[in-house]
Amino acid sequence: MEKNLSQTAYQEACKLIPGGVNSPVRSLRSVGAEPLFIQKASGTILTDIDNQHYIDYCLSWGVHLHGHAHPAITKASIATLRKSSSFGISSPLEAQLAGLVIQSVPSIEKIRFVSSGTEAVMSSIRLARAWTGRDLILKFDGCYHGHADHLLVNAGSGVAGIKSASSAGVPEDFVRHTLSIPFNEIKTVRKVFDKKGYSIAAVIIEPLPANMGVIPPEAGFLEELRELCTRHGSLLIFDEVISGFRLGPGGAQEWYTVRPDITALGKIVGGGYPAAAFGGKTEIMDQLAPLGAVYQAGTLSGNPVAMAAGYESLQLALKEGFYNRLNERSRQFGNELRKLIQGKDIQLNQVGSLFTFFFSSTPVKNFNHASNTNTLQFGRFYRAMLEQGIYLSPSPFEASFLSAAHTDRQLNKTLRAIHKSIKTI
Ligand SMILES: *Cc1c(COP(=O)(O)O)cnc(C)c1O
Repeated sequence: MEKNLSQTAYQEACKLIPGGVNSPVRSLRSVGAEPLFIQKASGTILTDIDNQHYIDYCLSWGVHLHGHAHPAITKASIATLRKSSSFGISSPLEAQLAGLVIQSVPSIEKIRFVSSGTEAVMSSIRLARAWTGRDLILKFDGCYHGHADHLLVNAGSGVAGIKSASSAGVPEDFVRHTLSIPFNEIKTVRKVFDKKGYSIAAVIIEPLPANMGVIPPEAGFLEELRELCTRHGSLLIFDEVISGFRLGPGGAQEWYTVRPDITALGKIVGGGYPAAAFGGKTEIMDQLAPLGAVYQAGTLSGNPVAMAAGYESLQLALKEGFYNRLNERSRQFGNELRKLIQGKDIQLNQVGSLFTFFFSSTPVKNFNHASNTNTLQFGRFYRAMLEQGIYLSPSPFEASFLSAAHTDRQLNKTLRAIHKSIKTI
């Protein structure tokens, strides 16, 4: 493929921006490729500045449930934008989107909007600490909760390769109050609760982890977490920044029928704009300023364009049969994928419209397993797919996504490309 303009753009960007990117995974380093430079995207098709087309299965990390530049979402965004891109004062659009979220997510009674998933999680943690009067946070290896200092401990996503404090510049004192233990190991959770239960402010978890690749919770795992938290007066925080409005209106908590105390949302809920949210029981949420003593704020929080776009996205998703169709098509696609990898040392982990290929001969059920998969082989597979115009999420530790916009033709083309890519590696 001719990539002249992209290569030049990358070289230029590298002079001005560290690594040429504004978020590390975009560099495609972990798959041994060079970053794409995009001029436009529509539906599921990305067009780079060299006019190469790619079928997109990353979809801005799952944001575009309806595909890029969906006409109704674009229209709502532009109509709002004409009235100003930001008021810095309340508008009715905020309560309108809040109403839709609260009606959809069973455990949310009140909600506050912020500008990123990182903030949603940061504020959820502060709230849980204030509510319980405790400091300790329990998380799980390979779960990613944004880039705040105290959660960069054995984290997934772009920091999946880095051990313990997942970043330089994070003081030991900051991570002292964060315990990270293996996912899907309820015995270890019990042990921690036996020893420290009464000092745990919150357990935070991706109820369906997608930042170490997709790794479903084993039967009973989330249920027992819920019970341990309740028994010890700790809050259960579900980080549904990816799973929210991805699996269904009520996200993973509805899918697995386990209710958290606080939920963090992002990605889909912002309709493609920098918006995210956290919510939960009224008495907990009312601890936030200006009602309570927990400070939380944001210049662009509840941004009108984002609220309008989020509202339109959710309206489309909440139409009769939307999730049934998406999940059923995803299931059929998954069945075809499984045929292609049968007898090979490849695992397909899939839940609903989220999926990850792991190059491994054994099932992948936690971060340790994921870390031991053949990431070099994944890189070769990834590059072969890219050559054929398929853009999967660019890391062995990320989820790829189906959207309502993928056509049967595109899915079939993708299956053929996978068949060929597996043969070449
Ligand atoms: C993307 C993500 C975040 C961080 O959201 P940002 O908007 O990138 O700050 C947090 N948690 C999970 C589960 C995510 O997938």
